[in-house]
Amino acid sequence: MLEARCPKCGYHCYGWALVKPEEHICPKCGSKLELIHEHKPQTEKKQASENSNLR
Ligand SMILES: [Zn+2]
Repeated sequence: MLEARCPKCGYHCYGWALVKPEEHICPKCGSKLELIHEHKPQTEKKQASENSNLR
């Protein structure tokens, strides 16, 4: 889930609606929200071990 915080008034919100740029506006003061990027525990890197058989 995405999190955003207002650097001015400290408004904090979260939700998948934050993927939209229109949601990056603080409803209180109207300033731009800062997205909080937390380290995700799910960092599964798929190793490219697939053999691509191109004809
Ligand atoms: Zn604000």
